[in-house]
Amino acid sequence: MITTGPEISTAPVVVLGGGIAGLTAARELLRNGLDVVLYEAGPSVGGMADSHHDPEGFTFDTGAHFITNRLATATGVYEQCRAVESYGETVWLGGRSYDYPAGLLRVPRFVRAAIAERTHPRHGSATSAADRFRREFGTALADEIALPLLEAWSGAPATELAPAVADKIPSGIAQTVGLKLAARLTHRAVAVGYCQEAPQSANVWHVYPERGISAVCESLAADVADSIRLRSPVEAITVSDGRAVGVRVAGREVPAAAVISTAPINVLPKIVEGTDALERFRAFRFRPMVFVNLRLQGRDLLPHTMTWTPEAQLPFFRLTETPQAMPWLAPEGKTLITADIGAEIGDEHWSMDDGELGERCIDALVEIVPSARRDYLGCRVVRAPSAYPVFHLDYELDRQRLATSTGVDRLLSIGRNGEFAHILMEDVYWRTVRRARRLARELKSGAPVSV
Ligand SMILES: Cc1cc2nc3c(=O)[nH]c(=O)nc-3n(C[C@H](O)[C@H](O)[C@H](O)COP(=O)(O)OP(=O)(O)OC[C@H]3O[C@@H](n4cnc5c(N)ncnc54)[C@H](O)[C@@H]3O)c2cc1C
Repeated sequence: MITTGPEISTAPVVVLGGGIAGLTAARELLRNGLDVVLYEAGPSVGGMADSHHDPEGFTFDTGAHFITNRLATATGVYEQCRAVESYGETVWLGGRSYDYPAGLLRVPRFVRAAIAERTHPRHGSATSAADRFRREFGTALADEIALPLLEAWSGAPATELAPAVADKIPSGIAQTVGLKLAARLTHRAVAVGYCQEAPQSANVWHVYPERGISAVCESLAADVADSIRLRSPVEAITVSDGRAVGVRVAGREVPAAAVISTAPINVLPKIVEGTDALERFRAFRFRPMVFVNLRLQGRDLLPHTMTWTPEAQLPFFRLTETPQAMPWLAPEGKTLITADIGAEIGDEHWSMDDGELGERCIDALVEIVPSARRDYLGCRVVRAPSAYPVFHLDYELDRQRLATSTGVDRLLSIGRNGEFAHILMEDVYWRTVRRARRLARELKSGAPVSV
């Protein structure tokens, strides 16, 4: 049995998970002179940041499609990266595409409704995501574009989602337009709305590692190789007197100075023993996604790299043609379009045969790419059970409390699913570095761990 040790423990810090958050935490703690063991349930590191290479010569990723030159430098992969050639987003609505954001700003009904919100502001603060989006964008743009996308993506009515969902859209229109202009002038895919932890500027642009996004975690893993234990799911986290003191792996108790989890937050109540402080996180929901990677003859088939499709008759809500921005991801003369479909585990799309899913997407895609049926070469499907955190109003207060603490001393929950936050890899990286440094300081001083 594990007992609470002295204030300054000689046991290692245990990290649970070998995605970018776990690996970054491990590296930062080692750099700060602490002993670390990282347990990864799967056979390799990477988590959601993994890449697939198919025999036909196409490369596609599960989650992350782009990183920045700044993250590539921090994780040691910049030399392996190529600059993303161009990047743009459009919205497909009423049979035509609108550039984001400039094209939407030219639609009179969107502009009129947005001005009406500014000239007659509503009283009080927003009560739901639907309310906040209508206030910020005007009812026309919110009801026709933002809210249908939000509902497809989260699987819940926008009136039941917290206003904080809109925090995911960090930059104002003016800053977005400025950065897009900088992209044109510098011929670089300047990152817009990608990272909230570090400033946006014309000097931060998208890059992509030659061998795929998985290179990022492989590079971090090389720095902490001696600390990593693969195929080692953490079965339990032991809490004694309100403090995390160890874990159980393969039936063996391992003492820990602190435990850092990157598992989805709603998993923690199931594996934490010795307290019910985490029970409130059991209700938190993640939205599963089905990604249908369609192989096609041709190139530059979509209006831009990414096309948002808010209309309900389409099975997907987003299409991404990564070879427009990164031509090397598909053989010459061919392309790859990834269709994102929001799902629930076991529902029609989740359970559908891969071939049938491809056919359904192609049937819908012909509205945007008329030659899609003729040029279709087959598909590969990736299913992600915990793709997006759903900010439901039912547990909004608990979500806000999680931002400061799990409620258990020396138990940190970090990373995208651990923090239950809509964050991309660069935010995960900088937030983790900051929290790991603070943990190291507190462990060395014996103070209670507050992050
Ligand atoms: C659709 C989509 C698109 C995205 N696009 C981008 C993008 O373009 N750019 C970008 O930067 N980011 C993007 N992201 C976000 C990015 O993928 C994530 O922020 C990042 O990969 C999260 O890393 P993580 O370490 O927090 O979690 P994960 O990668 O989920 O890692 C958690 C790890 O913990 C392990 N684990 C779980 N339970 C246990 C256990 N009990 N014991 C041991 N190990 C365990 C898992 O096996 C996993 O390896 C996207 C995400 C999604 C879903």
